[in-house]
Amino acid sequence: MQPFELLRPATVQEAVEHLVRYPGAMVVAGATGLVDLMKLEVETPDRLLDIGRLPLDGIEDHGHGLRLGALASNSDVARHPAVRAEFPVLSQALLAGASPQLRNAATVGGNLMQRTRCTYFRDRAFACNKRTPGSGCSAQHGPHRMHAVLGVSEQCMATHPSDMCVALLALDAEVEVTGPHGRREIPLAHFHCLPGDTPHIETVLARGEIVTAVIVPRTPLAARSAYLKVRDRASYEFALVSVAVAMELRGDRTIDAIRIALGGVGTRPWRAEATEALLVGHAATPDNFRASVGASLQAAHPRRDNAFKVELVQRAMVRALETVGGLP
Ligand code: SF4
Repeated sequence: MQPFELLRPATVQEAVEHLVRYPGAMVVAGATGLVDLMKLEVETPDRLLDIGRLPLDGIEDHGHGLRLGALASNSDVARHPAVRAEFPVLSQALLAGASPQLRNAATVGGNLMQRTRCTYFRDRAFACNKRTPGSGCSAQHGPHRMHAVLGVSEQCMATHPSDMCVALLALDAEVEVTGPHGRREIPLAHFHCLPGDTPHIETVLARGEIVTAVIVPRTPLAARSAYLKVRDRASYEFALVSVAVAMELRGDRTIDAIRIALGGVGTRPWRAEATEALLVGHAATPDNFRASVGASLQAAHPRRDNAFKVELVQRAMVRALETVGGLP
């Protein structure tokens, strides 16, 4: 690991000032992601900004929803009574991620900012545009079974690894960030960038900005929601594909509103809007579910090793829709 200077700001404002003053500084909190990458020398910051002592770990009522502090642990969010009762998809997604030990240390903000698990990105022996812009993408011709089929470019096809973000996308969450010009909220749907020609730029955060909270609106959709994750082993594994569904149903089983978000298939958490559009106003039936899921995969770019994900995610979508729709 490269040597670095450790800074411990006492306030959010001080953290922002450090980030403006030191462009090479990186933020660390739970240390479950960045420190691994520093050991591999994939990340080599000259300064680390430890924000772990800032008062950002609250989980609070926010009038129309919940405000999850950036330093709230994944475990605390997952087992919070209001999250379990009113946002079950979020609790389920968090519990499907990592291991209990990691969830105790990992934070909401760190989960949002985590980097891809692409094996080439984490191994400096391979070319990787995300790690070293312009160096090439080893996944294009090497094994790429875990890689994305949606939102890919010739420069990068790495999947976004988060379960939490898939659930938050289905819940219309917003990311609260604080920077040199004050505070702003960014819809989660616009927070992560597509790789395009600049896969090293992963979020819309401006220089000096840090994530301070996530706002999750309380809606009828949110209360009727669930998360399904398909993976190679039952725990401590990233998704091959995953599905978050939130649905508002009328008494006659007509779908009034629906959100579907996908994980494991996109270069960022992926909203299945085409499927949603086909289902709104129609009955929650297995036939309607099966007929609608393919629409969201029209733009898929399957490759040699990951083409199975196109079929697998459609089956997972049908299963998740049936679960949330109360069907056997
Ligand atoms: Fe790097 Fe992206 Fe290619 Fe993986 S898929 S090697 S992260 S550029």
